[in-house]
This record gives sequence, structure tokens and C-alpha cells, in this order.
Amino acid sequence: MFDIEKIRADFPILEREIYGRRLVYLDNAATTQKPSCVISKIRDVYEQYNSNIHRSVSRLASICTDEYENARKTVSGFINAKSTNEIVFTSGTTAAINLLAFTFGEKFVNGGDEIVVCESEHHSNIVPWQLMCERKNAVLKVLPFDDSGDLKTELLDGLLTERTRLLCVAQATNVLGTVNPLDIIVKKAHEKGVYVLVDGAQGIQHVKTDVTASDFDFYVFSGHKIYAPTGIGILYGKEHLLEQLPPWQGGGDMVNRVSFAKTTYSGLPLKFEAGTSNYVGATGLGEALNYLISTGLDQIHSYEKELTNYALARISSIPQLTVYGTSANKVGIASFLVEGIHHADMGEILDKMGIAVRTGRMCAEPAIHHFGLTGLVRASWTFYNTKQEIDSLCEGIEKAKKLFF
Ligand code: PLP
Repeated sequence: MFDIEKIRADFPILEREIYGRRLVYLDNAATTQKPSCVISKIRDVYEQYNSNIHRSVSRLASICTDEYENARKTVSGFINAKSTNEIVFTSGTTAAINLLAFTFGEKFVNGGDEIVVCESEHHSNIVPWQLMCERKNAVLKVLPFDDSGDLKTELLDGLLTERTRLLCVAQATNVLGTVNPLDIIVKKAHEKGVYVLVDGAQGIQHVKTDVTASDFDFYVFSGHKIYAPTGIGILYGKEHLLEQLPPWQGGGDMVNRVSFAKTTYSGLPLKFEAGTSNYVGATGLGEALNYLISTGLDQIHSYEKELTNYALARISSIPQLTVYGTSANKVGIASFLVEGIHHADMGEILDKMGIAVRTGRMCAEPAIHHFGLTGLVRASWTFYNTKQEIDSLCEGIEKAKKLFF
């Protein structure tokens, strides 16, 4: 069964103290902590077999290459892709979306075509599309959300037209925590012949993800948000779509033959992996996913659900506090404000009590502006957090109120 003390012991940083108090880490939507097995794996690579991949014939290089390609298999299995050709390693979600924005734009978008993004998206799923629309003279359209944080999917019928090429939507949003109804969205988009990109940066770690059954055309996520190292991420794409996209960056590994007369490119997925890839990060990502599988995804998700119900009820019951984002279907995120206390002040006071949260615009200004605000405080939890830590957060907020009033 789910043994929270055993789980916590897997994450060494949770033991440390901040200003003389045990760390309460509630900034998991920004980045997650790493289990010992991932830290040891990275150490192992550097101590035991570090060598550049896909190049040398040395024993070390072949071990390293195998580790990298095994990590690709693990990712492919984790999200149920049909083939490892559909799994491209990138440096993160942002890099994956930029890769797609450039290549998809080159292949599929002409002047006057439309791209739809959602009002609640992270800047990474807005700005690359704005840049592409500027380049291609295309039109960016926005699907709004209602005051509870749910997308107004009933507007999709009017918003999607024969000029729409792609709809970009988060699996779960980083400010409001809403798990978007992707089944409805994908169905409506596909009925109109529109491709769908799902940003899984806040979803992959909390929601079971099956890209094939869900019929996503493209799916992206970052390793560091799912207990893996920074600097590694994934672009998944249906093989027949990735095949049609042109290369993005040029360099080693992405080429077949190079001459001044004509260069030919590698097949999938290396076509999109120019230069020395972050093979250490990829190996760490494989290890993190295997750790989650062996811990039990169902147990993790049901523990998180229970913690989320507890946390949302507890935090929203604090007088003078408003939680923004009250959808019935949320991941472990509460973005809030206490009347009369600036979000940055609240963040600093909580930090002095050893409680780490995020404050500010959270790279999602349109979502913050929806409520006429300049920023929020965000607490975000995951399967190594406890009800006691949520209680500490609530006590911290009450103490902050006493300091101000
Ligand atoms: N999309 C969402 C929903 C996010 O929450 C984030 C990061 O917070 C990103 C994209 C960008 O991820 P990264 O900075 O790892 O590229």
C-alpha cells in the first residue's frame, strides 16, 4: 500500500531545514524534487560510463547510447506511444513547443490560416504561436475560460473554422489547476480536421496519459516537473505527422549524408535531435518514470486526489482568502490571495516559516488578467506532500494575517 513515510525518505531534500524549520515544499508546479534513485543514476552515468552517444564505437559509448535509447522506450511506454519514432528528446516543454511552432508553421500554415490557443495557457503555449503567426501572417484566436477556470468548450464550434490548423491546450493549467476536458476538445477539433497539441507540463505527473487512446496529435512535457532532471523534455507526435515536418535545428546526429551539394537528414526521431543530446538527463528521466511505475501510478494518483480534496477544502475555508480556479476537476494547485496582503509579501512571510510557494504572474499573464489581478500566491502539492504540510501552510497564512491586521 501507499506508505508516505517511505516515499518521503526517497526524496532527500525533504529532510532539510529552512530558517531552522523543516522544509514544507509546496512549489511542485514550478519544479519537483528528485528521488535518490534519479540522483544516483546521474552520478552513475558520470562515474561509470559517460561518453557521447550515437558516435563512438567504444564500450562506454555503447552503454551510454543504450541507456539513452532505453529511456526513449520507457517514455514511449509511459505515454503509450505507438513507436519510439514518435518520441523526440528536447530540453523541455518550451523547447518542444518552439520546435513544433517552427516546423508545423513551415509545413502546414499559410497566410490567413488560424491557430487557437486557450486563455489559461502558460506563456510557452502562447508566445511561440504568436511568433509563428507573425512569421506566417496567420491569425491567433483564443478560447476563453469561465470564472471557475473551465474552458468554454461550447464556443469551439464557432471558433474552429476551415482555416484552423491547430488547437493548443494544456492537459492541466498551471495557475488555476483545471484538468481540461481533452476528450471533448480533441473530438470537436478532429471533426473539423484540426490537429491538437496538448501541453502536458502540469498533467503528466498527475493524470494517467495515453496519447494513442486519447488521439493527441502532439504532446509535450518537461522532465523536471516529473521528478527527473532539468534540461530534458519530450515532444511526442504521431509518426505520420512528424515525418511530414521539416528539420528544425541543423547539426550532428540529425543528418544522414552531408555534402556542399546536398545534405540528407536522419529519419525519426533523430531528425529533430541536432547536436549532443542531453543523454544524462534522458537517462534520469527514464529512471524517474520507472520509479513512478514501481511505486504504483494508481496509488500515487488516488493519494494525490485525497490530498487535493483535503487541501482545497482547508485552504478555501480561511477567512478573507479567495482561491482562484474552482473547477470540479483539478490537480494539486491552489492559487489564492488574502484580502489586503500583496502576493509577494505573503510569499516572503511563508518562506520565513520554511514554506516554499510561488508568487507573481506565474508565466500566465492572460489567466491572471482574466480576474483583473497583478499576481497570485500558488501552493502546489504532489504525492510526497502530507495533510500536515497543508495544515502548516494554513497556519502560516493565519500568522501572516496577524502580522498585517
Ligand atoms: N506549460 C505549462 C502548463 C507549465 O506549467 C510550464 C512550466 O511551468 C511550461 C509549459 C514550461 O515548462 P518548461 O519551463 O519546463 O519548459
